[in-house]
Amino acid sequence: MKPSPSSDTDTPRAKRARAAHLLLLALTLPLGFIACTGNDTKPGNAGAGSPTPAASPTPANTSARLTIDGARAFEHVRKQVEFGPRPAGSSELARTREYIVGELKSYGLNATVDEWQAKTPIGERKMANVVAELPGESSDVVILSSHYDTKLFKEFRFVGANDGGSSTGALLEMARVMATSGQKPRLTYRFVFFDGEEAFCANWEDCQTPEGPDNTYGSRHYVKQLKEKNEIKRVRAMILLDMVGYKNLELGRNEVLSTRWLIDAVWDTAKEIGYGDYFIDEIEHCDGDDHVPFLNEGIEALDIIQLSSYEYWHEEGDTLDKISPQSLKIVADAVLASLPRIEQRLLAKPAS
Ligand SMILES: [Zn+2]
Repeated sequence: MKPSPSSDTDTPRAKRARAAHLLLLALTLPLGFIACTGNDTKPGNAGAGSPTPAASPTPANTSARLTIDGARAFEHVRKQVEFGPRPAGSSELARTREYIVGELKSYGLNATVDEWQAKTPIGERKMANVVAELPGESSDVVILSSHYDTKLFKEFRFVGANDGGSSTGALLEMARVMATSGQKPRLTYRFVFFDGEEAFCANWEDCQTPEGPDNTYGSRHYVKQLKEKNEIKRVRAMILLDMVGYKNLELGRNEVLSTRWLIDAVWDTAKEIGYGDYFIDEIEHCDGDDHVPFLNEGIEALDIIQLSSYEYWHEEGDTLDKISPQSLKIVADAVLASLPRIEQRLLAKPAS
């Protein structure tokens, strides 16, 4: 994903060094322009020291709320890290994909693998998205998604425990819980695991060509297919998880590039179930991620991401020890708990 407004070459240290300067800028600029890096210095950071799940979340309503098993989600992250670096086109990613498909099938879901040849700056690469659908009472679709590739680094071993691993682990566990709950959802859900979110070139915008950018290969491919199948209108909302497992969990609102009511639905719900310390009212600003191709087609979309306060982003240190089962559970449970609210809003306003 692409941070904003700084360049991707910035290290977290450089970001922190610039933070004081940004505080001054904050006095003169609209909030959105300073958000991504400015988060490093916000006073509310104190709550992130050693997160534990809220002692006794109080459900927003009395109907049984679906919740995941944080240990199972963590185990999915551990498995992915064990496969090693997983850049698009690698045999390690192929093994990861087999693992994802095997898990989805074991939940009773009909998982499909959609392969294509992607043109990249380092030549053609075979890529594949994994999709599983859980039919609901309505054929209108809500997409829950993650990328499962990791960024290619030659200078160090990058295993992407948080960046790629965490969201994939959380999404698998959400799929299990939803598919095996015995409750038919009101809307149809698709669990989509995107290949090729990461750029092959060092930075997000380095290798832009007229054919497209060097990133978000899987999500762009998926949306192109939605268009070809005339399914854009059927997809009512898209929720993307990206870097959601940090043990010092702290998620800001990606307001510039996410649909406002979807942010509110998830953040309000998170607060209601006792997770307000982790879903905070700061701005998280990222200029690119897998939800953008959907937004570009008018599909309402939300990116849940911890970027500016994750200091191991695209670093060798993005390893399993940075991930906690509790963080995975907090994020997945908050999203699951917000789905009734999202469904209600979508069903009240049928697709045009
Ligand atoms: Zn990344």
